[in-house]
Amino acid sequence: MYELPKRLKSLIPYQPITGAYSVRLDANESFLDTPDWLREEIAAAIKKIAFHRYPDPLCTELREKFAAFFHIDPQLVTAGNGSDELIGLIINTFLGPGEKMAMVRPDFSMYSIYAEIAGVPTAVYEKEPDSLELDRDGLISFVKESGAKLLIFSNPCNPTSQKATMEDMIQIIESLDCLVVADEAYMDFSEGSILHLAQKYDNLILLKTCSKIGMAGIRLGFAVANPALTRVLQAVRSPYNVNAMTQAAGCIWFSHGDYIRSCVEQIKASRNALCRELAALGEQKKEILQVLPSYANFVFLHMSHAKSVFENLAQQGIAVRLMGEYLRITAGSEMENKQLLTALEEILK
Ligand code: PMP
Repeated sequence: MYELPKRLKSLIPYQPITGAYSVRLDANESFLDTPDWLREEIAAAIKKIAFHRYPDPLCTELREKFAAFFHIDPQLVTAGNGSDELIGLIINTFLGPGEKMAMVRPDFSMYSIYAEIAGVPTAVYEKEPDSLELDRDGLISFVKESGAKLLIFSNPCNPTSQKATMEDMIQIIESLDCLVVADEAYMDFSEGSILHLAQKYDNLILLKTCSKIGMAGIRLGFAVANPALTRVLQAVRSPYNVNAMTQAAGCIWFSHGDYIRSCVEQIKASRNALCRELAALGEQKKEILQVLPSYANFVFLHMSHAKSVFENLAQQGIAVRLMGEYLRITAGSEMENKQLLTALEEILK
């Protein structure tokens, strides 16, 4: 009789919120719908696809367009079916049997899920609950002592919305011998990207995604690393991992740099407004314990009774993420933010 390996028995599938919510502020997507002119360009490009053929295995044009947008060398870029695919691939590739992966907590939940699937042991550095900031030197010592061969973390961090500075990142990379995977999924909403340093370090892989800036639906992410690491990523990914429709849509997306930048500005403005308004509400409501400053496209809110507030919001058709004593709330449109704030005010009466 077939016996499932023990490490697979306890796996729980990633559980995004599903259901009919009128306001979706749970998944850190962009609230900006794709405009008609962009839809038409994408539709025209998709119409031209040779559907009976495999897509370009190297994603040549897509990597060029991505690299041009970020002013980097396309030779350093690997495209993936969302950065999620690349995270799994990296963990499976760069860690040998028994080798440890270091991560911080709280951080993006998929890091530990992929480690568990791969049977990779983890060493977890706990952030200080009071500030939730990354203690650079503490992390460096921890990783060294743990003997981990790979460190992965998001910067800015999902879910805390905090960030490490460029100097901190450089110090971490230069102090460690292990591979450092810095996930810049939310860096578009902040400053201090180290994308331009990817070529310089032999122990750095950076991750980027289209999901937070307006293209979550096409599933497109990128790894950026020096040529030696990129060669490995190109060798281990499956041959046609980015489908033809995604490649076509991604090429059009990255051809419109001004549009992307305007989306990012609108998302940042919404986030700032949401932060401000939640902080103002916090002045009146003792249940709001802290509104963390945000460097991402969401706000991390420390609350008493977070669970009941979360459930109450859900009943009103408003989806946010519950994370222990915190709510993670994606910046929405003006209307969505208003609906959220009105509902919160009512709940906390
Ligand atoms: N990294 C981080 C830090 C994220 O928050 C997310 C999305 N929740 C991802 C990666 C995954 O992005 P993608 O949609 O490109 O798979």
